[in-house]
Amino acid sequence: MLDIKITKAEKLKEKPTDETALGFGKIFTDHMFLMDYDKSYGGTHWHNPRIEPYHPFSIPPACSVLHYAQEVFEGLKAYRTADGTIQLFRPECNARRFQDSCDRLSIPQIEVDDFVQAVKTLVELEKDWVPHADGATLYIRPFIFATMEQLGVHASSSYTFCIILSPSGAYYATGLAPVRIYVEDEYIRAAPGLTGFAKCGGNYAASIKSGELAEALGYSQVLWLDGVEHKYVEEVGSMNIFFKIAGKIYTAPCTGTVLPGVTRRSIIELCKDWGYEVIEDKLAIDDVMKAGHDGTLEEVFGAGTAAVVSPVKELRYENDTVMIGDGHIGALTQKLYDTMTGIQWGRIPDTKNWITPVCKA
Ligand SMILES: *Cc1c(COP(=O)(O)O)cnc(C)c1O
Repeated sequence: MLDIKITKAEKLKEKPTDETALGFGKIFTDHMFLMDYDKSYGGTHWHNPRIEPYHPFSIPPACSVLHYAQEVFEGLKAYRTADGTIQLFRPECNARRFQDSCDRLSIPQIEVDDFVQAVKTLVELEKDWVPHADGATLYIRPFIFATMEQLGVHASSSYTFCIILSPSGAYYATGLAPVRIYVEDEYIRAAPGLTGFAKCGGNYAASIKSGELAEALGYSQVLWLDGVEHKYVEEVGSMNIFFKIAGKIYTAPCTGTVLPGVTRRSIIELCKDWGYEVIEDKLAIDDVMKAGHDGTLEEVFGAGTAAVVSPVKELRYENDTVMIGDGHIGALTQKLYDTMTGIQWGRIPDTKNWITPVCKA
């Protein structure tokens, strides 16, 4: 158990009045959680867990994260149910993944219970910031960064663990609009032995250029191929990706180059419950395009916390394009969306024990 010291803001910010215009990650609440790590401290070296008014950091120009990107993050949401409960979806999965990310980046880990306690304590304090509008949530962003003032390439001897909260709008303003996806055949996101499975800023820094190139061609996301043969599908932007081909569900295996999504594993469980065969194995982009042309590519969707599921209506690979279904969301994609959001917002009983209540609003 962390002994969290709370210092409240003297003056609270105005809450946004139009919850349909929140966007994503642009507004932040009144408070933030902080905890420090110093090698010179005893025990786990983590100390001083506290909640303070949201404020900027003051860091030295030689702060190591600015030079060598020793940083990891997480992303989850708090939901407001119809009966006024504020709740989280599988936060211990994020806590464990945070530990795995830390391990890969040589960052000292946070205990799973401490992570969940910190998130719950901050969300409860900020419960009035959890939006009421349909589909809107309080996005939770935990992160750790290296703070040592030194330019040598070593693990830092000090870190800051921080959690900030951002009320965010429904991902789909006008229903689940299917997106067009560009298959990236030159740049890669991950390769065996690298950091693909970790949620670290460096992975994203390296992906921005591809995103820009795809956008210039009118595509909203990039589909990454494996980093060795540029042949097998891996994931899309900040989502895992699923293909329904001739009745079976395919998604890339989490063997080091793919981010193990909480949404991904939840969707796999649901699909198996519903009797689908789910194949977590290599799937060649050539086979996907072939299925697109012979009519067996029934549905394609991305899966991640932000969008839950994101239906795909078009794939472009080199000079070939396939359209998926009739351009509308597929039946399975819709059912997954309804089930996942139903559980998250308490409209469907939580038979899987995926929900962690925080408080009554
Ligand atoms: C966060 C993330 C996902 C999705 O993970 P969820 O836990 O479902 O939100 C997928 N791919 C990448 C690269 C990510 O960073």
